[in-house]
Amino acid sequence: MRKDLPLELRVSRLTVVSLRNLCDTKKLSGWSNLLKEELVGFVLDNMDRKALEDFCSAQEEIYFVENMAKAIKWAGGRKVVDLDPKSDDTIVNAVFSLRKSDGYEVYHVRFVNQTNEDVDTSCECVDHREKGYFCPHQMAVLIRCLQEGLFTLDQWAGPMTTEVEDLIQSNVFRKKRVRK
Ligand SMILES: [Zn+2]
Repeated sequence: MRKDLPLELRVSRLTVVSLRNLCDTKKLSGWSNLLKEELVGFVLDNMDRKALEDFCSAQEEIYFVENMAKAIKWAGGRKVVDLDPKSDDTIVNAVFSLRKSDGYEVYHVRFVNQTNEDVDTSCECVDHREKGYFCPHQMAVLIRCLQEGLFTLDQWAGPMTTEVEDLIQSNVFRKKRVRK
C-alpha cells in the first residue's frame, strides 16, 4: 500500500479467524472468549508492533493477489466494467456491476492522477470506504484501463506489488508473449 494506514485500522480489518490464528501462533493466552473488537485491542496490547505489521502486510498481500485473480476474470467479461469513454490517464470513471443471485452489485469507481506520482482511487464499497482496501472493483477497473491502453503498468502509481504485477503480466498480456 502506498499510503500508510494506521496499524489499528489494518488490524481491525483482519478477520476473526486470522486474529485467532495469530494469537494461537504467537502462543498468547487469555483471548479465547474475546469478540472481534476485543480481539483487536488484545492483539494491539499484547503483540510486538513490528510483528503485527508484518502479519498485516502478509494478509494484505493475500487479499491483493486473490482479489486480483478474480478481477482479471471479471474484466474479461465486457459487461462487468463500464468505462466512461472520456477517461484518460489523469482521470478514470467507471461503473462496476456484477450479477448476484439476489440482483446486481453496482459501484462507481474513480481514479484521479494529477501529479503522476500518486493516484487517488475510490470505490463506493465497504471494503474501500470503511476498511481502506484497494478493493476488487478498483482492481477490475485497473485491468480494463490497462487492456484499453489508457496507461501502462509502469505508469500506474497506485497500489501494486511484484507478485500482483507478475499475475497481471502473465494473465492480461499473455497474448503478447512468445510461447512454445
Ligand atoms: Zn470496491
